[in-house]
Amino acid sequence: MEAGERMDFEDGLAILESDDLLALGELADLARRVRGGTDEVYFVQNLYVNQTNVCRVKCKFCAFAATQRQPHAYTFTAEELVEDVLRQREVTGFTELHMVNGESPHVDFAFYRDTITALHEALPDVHLKCYTASEIHHMTTLSGLTHEEVLRELRDRGLGSLPGGGAEVFAERVRRLVAPGKEHPDIWFHVHDTAHRLGIPTHCTILYGHVETYEERVDHLIRLREQQDRTGGFLAFIPLAFHPENTVFERRGWRHTTGADDLKMLAISRLMLDNIPNIKAYWIMMGMPLAAVALHFGANDVQGTVVREEIFHAAGARTETEQKVEELVHFVREAGRIPVQRDTLYNELRRW
Ligand code: SF4
Repeated sequence: MEAGERMDFEDGLAILESDDLLALGELADLARRVRGGTDEVYFVQNLYVNQTNVCRVKCKFCAFAATQRQPHAYTFTAEELVEDVLRQREVTGFTELHMVNGESPHVDFAFYRDTITALHEALPDVHLKCYTASEIHHMTTLSGLTHEEVLRELRDRGLGSLPGGGAEVFAERVRRLVAPGKEHPDIWFHVHDTAHRLGIPTHCTILYGHVETYEERVDHLIRLREQQDRTGGFLAFIPLAFHPENTVFERRGWRHTTGADDLKMLAISRLMLDNIPNIKAYWIMMGMPLAAVALHFGANDVQGTVVREEIFHAAGARTETEQKVEELVHFVREAGRIPVQRDTLYNELRRW
């Protein structure tokens, strides 16, 4: 690795099969530094919102989605959403709005277009990081437009970047088991490819810790690395551990991933994804103590202040939903690193 050689499939598998966790951490931290990483750890002030939880897809790992008829189903209009976001803005500052939703069959493309327009008009200085590749694809089925036409239109109305959700695990075997209603992975890649070519940066993820094998995890990372070689538009990679609560997997006795597995996943992400600059330790899912350790396993970003988060909490995440800037700063310092507040595009806003 020090010779700059790219890790191949077999290397990736050997890493995941290794039990020498500390050596893996050291290797991942070294990889981060060799590629120009410093002691800086980034975070962003962001607000998470979900405009609708109505979804037609029915992924087996999802505890968030509802059908239109269920009592907890909701869909906010653009006006209601803007009102809510402006109310939040009075309480906390944020530079990024992170929005993902269910794929509601009861809306049309104008719903999304008008939402972006209204958000951008109300918050022109806030970066709109909205809609997974699956949602963008959903908009094409609602409207008959192409991915490019949908993305162009949203970009021209103020969309800044795409979050990385909907990737799950790309292997078809896994997708058939956990998300049979979801589009083919080629579509996920086509949306991101198109976004990158239109100058819209995106993020990428893996949802691990359910039915996938180590081979399938490595395959997932290699596919992302190849895409990044082609278009270079991924800003960051976020490994997301599966939370079984309130899903069919809980009834089958599934448990959370272990801390060791989470750290291993971060380390291999840093080692394999040699062309994606930022690896996030998503504290909302792993909790702050483990996220602090993660900073020594290849992570250089702790996501954000996340004022509200519903998706992982619907599936049993027990972390706080808001982390104040001072607490994040304290936590990064305690881990021996320099806290740097960033905007979505990794421009430095403030350092401590
Ligand atoms: S994960 Fe997303 S697409 Fe799947 S059921 Fe939940 S909201 Fe719908």
